[in-house]
Amino acid sequence: MKTSIIGFPRVGELRELKFATEKYFRKEITAEELEKKGKELRLKHWQLLVDQGIDFIPSGDFSFFDTILDTAVLLNLVPKKYQELGLPPLETYFALARGYQGESGDVTALAMKKWFNTNYHYMVPEIDDDTELKLVGNQLFTTFSEAKEAGIQTRPTIVGPFTLLKLATYHGPKQAKDFYEEAIIAYTQIFDQLTKLGCEWFQIDEPALVLDLTPTDIQQFRELYEKLLAKKGQLKILVQTYFGDVRNGYQELIELPFDGIGLDFVEGRKTIDLLEEHGFSKEKTLFAGIVNGKNIWKNNYQKTLELLEMIQPFGDIVLNTSCSLLHVPFTLANENVLEKDVTAYFSFAVEKLTELNDLKKILEDKKINQDLLKANSVLFTQERFVKNKRVAKQIEALTKNDYVRLPKLSERAIIQKEKLELPTLPTTTIGSFPQTREVKQNRAKFKKGEITEAEYIAFNRKKIDECIAFQETIGLDVLVHGEFERNDMVEYFGESLEGYLFTEKAWVQSYGTRCVKPPIIWGDVSRSKPITVAYSKYAQTLTHKPMKGMLTGPVTILNWSFPREDISLKEATLQLALAIQEEVLDLEANGIEIIQIDEAALREKLPLRQSDWHTEYLDWAIPAFRLVHSKVQPTTQIHTHMCYSEFADIIQDIDHMDADVISFEASRSNLDILDALKAIDFQTQVGPGVYDIHSPRVPSVEEIETTIQNILNKLPIEKIWINPDCGLKTRGVSETQASLKNLVLAAKKVRGGV
Ligand code: GLN
Ligand code: ZN
Repeated sequence: MKTSIIGFPRVGELRELKFATEKYFRKEITAEELEKKGKELRLKHWQLLVDQGIDFIPSGDFSFFDTILDTAVLLNLVPKKYQELGLPPLETYFALARGYQGESGDVTALAMKKWFNTNYHYMVPEIDDDTELKLVGNQLFTTFSEAKEAGIQTRPTIVGPFTLLKLATYHGPKQAKDFYEEAIIAYTQIFDQLTKLGCEWFQIDEPALVLDLTPTDIQQFRELYEKLLAKKGQLKILVQTYFGDVRNGYQELIELPFDGIGLDFVEGRKTIDLLEEHGFSKEKTLFAGIVNGKNIWKNNYQKTLELLEMIQPFGDIVLNTSCSLLHVPFTLANENVLEKDVTAYFSFAVEKLTELNDLKKILEDKKINQDLLKANSVLFTQERFVKNKRVAKQIEALTKNDYVRLPKLSERAIIQKEKLELPTLPTTTIGSFPQTREVKQNRAKFKKGEITEAEYIAFNRKKIDECIAFQETIGLDVLVHGEFERNDMVEYFGESLEGYLFTEKAWVQSYGTRCVKPPIIWGDVSRSKPITVAYSKYAQTLTHKPMKGMLTGPVTILNWSFPREDISLKEATLQLALAIQEEVLDLEANGIEIIQIDEAALREKLPLRQSDWHTEYLDWAIPAFRLVHSKVQPTTQIHTHMCYSEFADIIQDIDHMDADVISFEASRSNLDILDALKAIDFQTQVGPGVYDIHSPRVPSVEEIETTIQNILNKLPIEKIWINPDCGLKTRGVSETQASLKNLVLAAKKVRGGV
C-alpha cells in the first residue's frame, strides 16, 4: 500500500513565502534572495513529506503566486503587453499577477477567479488569436531536478490542457479546441524532458472533469488525450481529478491509457457508484482521495476503512488526499491556546500526512496497529459537548411561515417610502470606512490588554462621531457608523457567537500573498448577547438621518468558516440564521430602521454542477437568509450586499432573498449585470456600485453621472440606489472622502436633471 498527496501548502508553516515575497515587492530583498527562500521552503516541505513516509511526493505545486499562472508562463500564454515591458522573468511574472506601473510601462494584472468551489483564487490566462502555445519555460524541470539532487524522487505536477484551456479567456474567435494541437506538442515535449531527467510519474491535474460536461466536451477530452498519451513513452501518467466526481466522462477516462487515475471519494458523491457501475481498469492504479484536503477535521478511520473495503476489489490503489492540501492550514503544532481535547479533533496539512500513514499501517496489519484505530474511534463515539438544546428546539419548531416576510415587497416599498422620506436616487455606502493605522492599533492594544475596554470604546465612539459628521457634511442620505470595531466581517461575528473557535496560526492561502484565517465552527451556534446594538444605537443618536445597522448574513459566515462535518451545512446555516435573526430584531427594537445583512460570499459554496445548484444549495441558502429578516416590521428596510460580479445566472434566486434593497459590485464588470436585472424584471431595489473601491483612483463627478445615466437607461429610477461597490475599509481617508463627495454631487446633479 502506498500513499500520495496532490499538493502541499507552499506558503510555509509561518507564512514565510508570503513575507519574503512582500519584502521583494517592497524592494527590501533581491530576486535572488526570494528565489533562495523559495528553494529553502521547497526542500523543507519535500523533506517533511519524506519524513512522514509519503510515497508519491509532488513537485511543481510550489509557486511564487499561483500554479495556473506558472503553467501559463511555462507554455508561453503571456499576452504581448506584458512581454513588451521587457522586464526580467520574475518581474514579468509578477506584472501578470499584480499589474505593473513604472518606467517600462503601465499594465493591469490578469483577472483573478475563484478556483472551483474553494476560496483560493487563480490567475486567468488570456489568449489572443496570435498566441502561440509552446513550451518556453523550465521551472517544472528545474524544481524536479532540484529535488532529485537532494535525493528525493518527486512526481511533477501541472494542470492539464483540457482544464487550462477551459479556464482561459479568449480575446479572438479562436477557442480552446483550436489550441489542442499546439498543446499536444508542448505537453509531449514536457513528457520527453521529464523522462530524460529520470522522472517516473507525472501528475496532470484535470479538475474540469468534475464540471457538467457535454458529450462534445467529453469527445474533445478523449481525442486530446488519445493523441497525447500515444506519446508518453516510458513516463507514467496520473490524471488527477478533485472537488467532485467525474460522472460525465468516467467511462472514457478508464478506457484511455492513463497509468493512474485520481478520484475524489470525499466530495465526489457518485465516485463509488461509478466504480460499481462501470468497474475500473486492472492495468491502472487508482489514486483514491479519501483524506479530505479541504476541511480541518480528523479523518474517521473506521468509516474510511469501510469505504476502502468497497474500493479495493477494483484494483491497485494508492491512498491519496481528496484535493491539494493547499486549502488547509499548515500544522496544528503551532496552536498553543486551544485545549488539547479540542485539537484532538483537528487535522491540518501535516497531520493529514499522519492520517494517510496510519490508514496505510492499519490496512497492512490491522492487529499490530489496532491501537491507532482505537484511539481514532474514540473521537467519533464519544460526545463532543457541542449540542445546544434551545437551538435544536428552535430549528425543529420552524415552519414555512418563518421564511416568509409579510406584506410583500411592493407593499413594503410604499410603506417604507413614506416612513423614511428618502430622496429619489438615495445615496449610501456599504458600511466600513477606512481602517487607518490608529483604528487597527486601538483594536490591537485592547486585545493585548494595553488599554481598558472603556478606552477602547471611547476611541471607537470618537471615530463614529467623525464618520457621521463627515457623512452629514457631504449630504449622504443613509448613514453608517463605519465598522471601526471590526477586524473582519466574519471573524467579528464569530467572536461574539457561542460555538466558534479561533486559531492562532491556521492561515490558508487565498491568492498570491494573501492568506485568511477562517474561524472554526465547533458546536451549535447561538447568540448569548447583542453584538452590534450598542455601536449602532450610539451612532443613531448622533443624526436625524437613518443609521444603517450592519450585519453579516448566515451563508457568508458559514462559507468563510471551517464548517462542522457532524451536521449538514443546511443545519449549520439555520443555526447562524437564528442567531443573526435575534440581532436583527434587537437592532429594530433599538430604533434602527434600516438593517443591512451582508451576503458577500453567497456564491462561494454554489455546487460546481448546475444540476446540483438548487437541491444541494440554493434551496436552503436563500430561505436561510429570509429567515433572518422575516420577522421585522414592514417599516424596517432590509438591505443586503454582495461582492464579485458573477450573479447573472443566479439572479432570480437573489431576488428571492426578498431583501428590500441590494447593493453589489458592478463597476468593474461594466455594469453587465443590468441586463440580467432587466431581463428577469428584478423586483428588489438595487444599488449597482457606481465606482470601484478596489483602486485608489478618485472618480470624477462627470464619470459617476455617466454611470448613473447608464443605470437609468436600463432600470426604473424609483428602484435605484447610489453607492460605491463595496466597503471602504481598505482605502485611504483622503481618496475615500473625495470619492464620496463626488458620488453625492453626481447623484444630486442627476436628480436635478430628471
Ligand atoms: N459591510 C462590509 C464592509 O463595508 C461589507 C464587506 C464586503 O462586502 N466584503 O466592509
Ligand atoms: Zn462587497
